Amino acid sequence: MGWKRITALLLAALAGCGLTGCGGRMDPDEAQESIQVIAMDTAMVLTAYGEKSTRAVYDAEEEVRRLDALLSRTSGDSEISMLNDAGGEMVTVGEEVCGLIQTAGEFTEATGGTFDITIAPVVSAWGFTTDSYQVPDQETLRTLLEHVGMEHVHLSGGSARLDPGTMIDLGGIAKGYTADRVAEIFQEHGVPRGKVELGGNILVIGDKPDGTAWRVGVQDPKRPDEADGLVCVLDLTDAFAVTSGSYQRYFEQDGKRYHHIIDPATGCPADSGLTSVTVMADSTLGNGTMCDALSTALFVMGEDKALDFWRSGVYDFQLVLVTEDDRVVVTEGLKDDFAELEESGYTYEYVS
Ligand code: ADP
Ligand code: MG
Repeated sequence: MGWKRITALLLAALAGCGLTGCGGRMDPDEAQESIQVIAMDTAMVLTAYGEKSTRAVYDAEEEVRRLDALLSRTSGDSEISMLNDAGGEMVTVGEEVCGLIQTAGEFTEATGGTFDITIAPVVSAWGFTTDSYQVPDQETLRTLLEHVGMEHVHLSGGSARLDPGTMIDLGGIAKGYTADRVAEIFQEHGVPRGKVELGGNILVIGDKPDGTAWRVGVQDPKRPDEADGLVCVLDLTDAFAVTSGSYQRYFEQDGKRYHHIIDPATGCPADSGLTSVTVMADSTLGNGTMCDALSTALFVMGEDKALDFWRSGVYDFQLVLVTEDDRVVVTEGLKDDFAELEESGYTYEYVS
């Protein structure tokens, strides 16, 4: 994986600076633009540096809004809603949505079905699409699960069809895909450095203006409302970091907590012993989508299976897992870029 290499390059760059006598802030006059956007049910912050930073962030905002309208399943006229409402009929969908459905299917295959966009009717039954939360009965879940599975999704040359009873929800991948698109737009505008936060999906480009890495905190799932309630801090350059956690969206009933990441095998909120999963990869285009799909999937898998999946090496990424029993499990590729937080109350384990 590229982390060691990135660190090495960074060190080399710093050493180079030392030789030529530069240091500290590279360009005190470097332009910067930062905007907040509320979209995709979350708060976003887009920050870019460089000459075209203003153009870059506003173009990115437009793209975020376009994708929100295209991929949402709660706005009635999105392609996804049309597909879900078609009652088994063929629907014309654009290349982009077709491509995303196809990509989602590849992750379903690769993750043993733990990531599955056809989980939509089950997510709805729990009330997560309408905010009128409820615990569905077993019989309801059993019936809904019959329609879950990518074999119920049919794509053919610009059209798509879902079997009756099947619906799709791109919520587990949409923000990651959006992060990829923002990365592309920033690249087109020659943005040398920047940071993009799409809820729990983070993209950092280059390093900070002072030449150090971007510091990205992993939220403590037990203290989601405290800005400094973190379990660790990561030093990242040119990277995606995506977190899925049971604290991000949930309701409580009879003293039990029900969150929004559903295990397609049971139709219930994944009860895997994890409270959050953060997936990191370098900022190669496509990795935003990958990190998002995998953060959801690995949350469902739980610690052991998630680490086996990481060790399989099928995808190039690193992991921070936070467990219910207060451990933070970190894959070895992150070791040099990872800071423990003494007061967090967690113990730290490094795995290879
Ligand atoms: P967030 O939306 O908080 O960033 P995730 O990326 O983990 O978190 O996505 C969770 C969303 O994905 C849920 O709100 C739901 O719409 C959908 N979802 C839930 N369970 C799954 C699953 N097993 N596979 C794919 N999508 C899922
Ligand atoms: Mg996800």
